[in-house]
Amino acid sequence: MTTVRAMGTRVGGELREAWRVLGPQWAAMAGATGSLFALFGTEPDAGARAFAIALGLLSLGLAGQLALNARAARHRERGLAEARTALEAQSALLVQLARSDAVTGLANRRGLMDDLTAEVYRALRYRRPLSVLLIDVDHFKRVNDTSGHAFGDTVLHEVAATLRAALRASDLVARYGGEEFVVVLPETDLPSAGMTAEKLRSAIEAHDFTDGERHARVTVSLGVATLTDSRMSPADTARRLLGKADAAMYAAKHAGRNRVRWETDLPRELRRAA
Ligand code: GH3
Ligand code: MG
Ligand code: MG
Repeated sequence: MTTVRAMGTRVGGELREAWRVLGPQWAAMAGATGSLFALFGTEPDAGARAFAIALGLLSLGLAGQLALNARAARHRERGLAEARTALEAQSALLVQLARSDAVTGLANRRGLMDDLTAEVYRALRYRRPLSVLLIDVDHFKRVNDTSGHAFGDTVLHEVAATLRAALRASDLVARYGGEEFVVVLPETDLPSAGMTAEKLRSAIEAHDFTDGERHARVTVSLGVATLTDSRMSPADTARRLLGKADAAMYAAKHAGRNRVRWETDLPRELRRAA
């Protein structure tokens, strides 16, 4: 019963729509036929001629209506395509914003974990070396306390730029937390990663951090760790790799800051726990 009523409603809707589109034309045809009868009413075959002319007018009207409908459909499609492109651009921007850090322009922790997990997967799959550096700015609180938080932000931005400038385009740099950075070094074993860490340490030490008015010198402590065979998932392996680098970075802090420590510098039990 409900189906019959639904069908009835649909058919009714379609008839109304047909009347909306064609009604005026039928009315025009009736009107034209009437007028032509009035014009040719006295001549032989007047009815047939009037009807043929009215039919021609109706066909013209219908063709015009179809052309208008097609143009409206094309217009709607173009509008939809433009809206889709704008939405895609906006969602790409949102993804980009969710993965990056506003102060330094680097990847944030979320972006880092995605990229590092992908690198770990690739390195394990193809048995390639992969190392990471965890870098913490020494006594950074003092920079904020002495020159203000805004200048602290400038220093963080400059630290990021200094790290980026000293590395290869294929190396990844991310802001891991407040004044902590992570560098991912694909195709790099522990000794080469240690050399890169030392290069970064001395680049930061040599840099004059300034906003044009104020100046600061800062140093960094770095921990170096490298990927070893793993039965864990790439995501867990990535977390463990960062844990080892973090432990090595703390060893650098304890040893007096402004230095590099390797995971192999850690006591065996600490290396396993990381
Ligand atoms: P340590 O050598 O032991 O690492 O000392 P530290 O002062 O660097 O470390 P601590 O963890 O005591 O302080 C970190 C400081 O970093 C405190 C916090 O205000 C600052 N910081 C964290 N994020 C930001 C930021 O986005 N902007 C600024 N300006 N400062 C930040
Ligand atoms: Mg810190
Ligand atoms: Mg610090």
